[in-house]
Amino acid sequence: MDVIAAIATGSAATAIGIVRVSGDGCFALCGRVFRAAGGRPFAAQEPRKMVFGEMLDRAGRVIDRGLAVRFPGPGSYTGEDCAEFHCHGSPVVLRELLSALFAAGARQAQAGEFTKRAFLNGRMDLTQAEAVADLLEAETPAAVRQAAGQLSGALSRRVAALYDGLVDLMAHFHAVLDYPDEDIDPFRADTIREGLDAARTGLEALLRTYDRGRYIAGGVPCVLIGRPNAGKSSLLNALVGYDRAIVTDVPGTTRDTVEARCRLGGVVLRLIDTAGLRESDDAVERIGVERSRAALEGAALALLVLDGSAPLSPEDEAAMAQAAHAPRVICLINKSDRPLAFAPEELRSRFPHLCVVSAATGAGLDALGETVAALFPAGGAESAGELLTNARQADAARRALEAVTRASESLEA
Ligand code: GDP
Repeated sequence: MDVIAAIATGSAATAIGIVRVSGDGCFALCGRVFRAAGGRPFAAQEPRKMVFGEMLDRAGRVIDRGLAVRFPGPGSYTGEDCAEFHCHGSPVVLRELLSALFAAGARQAQAGEFTKRAFLNGRMDLTQAEAVADLLEAETPAAVRQAAGQLSGALSRRVAALYDGLVDLMAHFHAVLDYPDEDIDPFRADTIREGLDAARTGLEALLRTYDRGRYIAGGVPCVLIGRPNAGKSSLLNALVGYDRAIVTDVPGTTRDTVEARCRLGGVVLRLIDTAGLRESDDAVERIGVERSRAALEGAALALLVLDGSAPLSPEDEAAMAQAAHAPRVICLINKSDRPLAFAPEELRSRFPHLCVVSAATGAGLDALGETVAALFPAGGAESAGELLTNARQADAARRALEAVTRASESLEA
């Protein structure tokens, strides 16, 4: 009996905190830390129904009074016997309760272990297990919708439809080969071709959802480009400050680049600040160019920052040329709190997505948010949950497409 237990709620003091337990046969163990008000043993309580009682430490002293509920397997989240204790959300209460459960024979669950068990016990497939993690980490309503849809099996159903079509083709093929004397429709190249074409079309459409899916689930990789003093750092700070709640600094994959996340127009931008690009003796500049090129390579969006208070310089031209390599560019004419030295409209033909902003005052950031939202539409509810959102899923779809393509080529040969 491997019983796991963990605090399911956060680490700050809250009104209610939940401790969760899973493992076949865990009800007797739970009964040692919970005394129901009516006196009936925990294992005999009605399934899936909250019961009031006292949580006890190993010496039998009361830790808290609250609710407990048991979910007998296999119809539970993990597929095993599960229980939950809802107490007052003091971190100390929750830790004491957890210690009591450990003393009674449970062990600390690893991160994600409840969902891992749900997957291993066939309660959900891999895309659904991935959706649980995505849902926990969702930073926007669009990300929530995508993860919730995937959790309810939308992506699995879309894949299953393609899979079933291929299995039908293969089954027919083998039936004809293996049972030549039976009265089975002979296979015709046309039917197989149609089936393979349909699978290919479906897989290609699925793969086209990957960019949108990963941007919704993980954020849009975005680089700031501009000559020194155009206001890139100020703008990064202004954007990050725009939604302080989710500011985090994640060390980037490239040395000396940091990633700051911000939410703009309902989209999470992973702003990649190519720190150190500003020092400009030639050797450093060369490295700088390399680094910004690397950042640009993975970027889905470039924010081109120009200093609107000064005439355009050759350095600005270089930045514009660099930005043009990105799949999408928004040109930001910064320092709009000062008199503008050139007309923004002059650049409109080169950069149709253009915003006049001030990092100093925050002017224009709302319009920037609208532009970002238009470039990365969240999509309608109809497709929520059906998008590929991570590299594993995309790789699997790509391999399936390759296999179908090989089959088509064999057929034609
Ligand atoms: P970077 O080299 O592109 O990162 O530029 P910085 O963010 O370091 O800004 C360069 C200078 O421009 C600093 O003195 C900033 O205070 C100033 N600056 C940046 N944005 C604005 C703005 O919107 N308005 C004004 N007036 N000054 C700004």
